Amino acid sequence: MLPLAMIELWSFVIILIIFVVIPIVFIRGLIKLSSRERLKRESALEKLKREQTPERATVACPYCAETIMAEAQKCKHCGEWLAEKPTE
Ligand SMILES: [Zn+2]
Repeated sequence: MLPLAMIELWSFVIILIIFVVIPIVFIRGLIKLSSRERLKRESALEKLKREQTPERATVACPYCAETIMAEAQKCKHCGEWLAEKPTE
């Protein structure tokens, strides 16, 4: 027969798992997802720049799809920043 204290201990452990382990797994998943999104965005930008010829090349803004200069740091149409620092 199981003593009452033992049952309480087990329910405490189960509650602990629900309130500690699950949030940790959830938060770690969120962090992983957001960093992956950022990486994807950065690599897409690099690819865009590489594909264009250096002189007066234009690209489509990844945010609003308007044509802008490949060297542009900021989109003139939607105002989104395309790069944090100038390359080279
Ligand atoms: Zn734009």
